[in-house]
Amino acid sequence: MHCPFCGADDTKVIDSRLVADGDSVRRRRECQTCGERYTTFETAELVMPRVVKSNGSREPFNEEKLRSGLQKALEKRPVSIEEIDSALNRITHRLRATGERELPSREVGEAVMEELRTLDGIAYVRFASVYRDFQDISEFQVEIQKLNTELE
Ligand SMILES: [Zn+2]
Repeated sequence: MHCPFCGADDTKVIDSRLVADGDSVRRRRECQTCGERYTTFETAELVMPRVVKSNGSREPFNEEKLRSGLQKALEKRPVSIEEIDSALNRITHRLRATGERELPSREVGEAVMEELRTLDGIAYVRFASVYRDFQDISEFQVEIQKLNTELE
């Protein structure tokens, strides 16, 4: 990077260490032209993609909204808060790992369904019925049948 004092592009790293529990790297640099020293911090950019809804509008990823959706589907089901938390972690990790700046809401929904499917069959069907907006009871039955076949 350019020296902030003289603009020269030849700077040298003279010291490098991990800070903040290893989440970032602090570097001391020295300009080879003017001799000034300065510090830079480097952190990984972990930005959640924005969610593109089916009507084309965009909204920031909302972890709380996702959590309450999961909790609603899992209401009165034998699934612990810890299990919900780790499912939530896997979902956010998966979405972030796409490296995309924007993701269709459908992809978020599919990630949630996949987690629910392994967590609890009833919760999965509850969520899927709302999410997929089943048009009639037969679609709902098809989904339950699919689930039963998988569990057998
Ligand atoms: Zn300089």
